[in-house]
Amino acid sequence: MPMSDESERYTPTEIRQHGPTQLAIAWLDGAESRFDVRALRLACRCAHCVDEWSGENRLDPTTVPSDVHPLRIQSVGRYAIGIEWSDGHSTGIYSFRQLRTDSDH
Ligand SMILES: [Zn+2]
Repeated sequence: MPMSDESERYTPTEIRQHGPTQLAIAWLDGAESRFDVRALRLACRCAHCVDEWSGENRLDPTTVPSDVHPLRIQSVGRYAIGIEWSDGHSTGIYSFRQLRTDSDH
């Protein structure tokens, strides 16, 4: 398997807010993904939102405002981003591999 193709697939060149409800990520291999920001918030897999043992979702969607959006996005190492949300939540980490894989479905 050629390593370069693999890493290009999961390397973002640009992450930006696209309008009030979408986050756009441009990838090194030329693809672009768009994410609904509230869906991203609901897909948070941190220990607060998902039970570590059962994998059960502990986040009640009704507690997440309909206009929730990222306030700050920061890189976490070379493989992920952390998002600070307008509802005060900031412990979620989104790996580029997870983001790219989710967007391909
Ligand atoms: Zn979370």
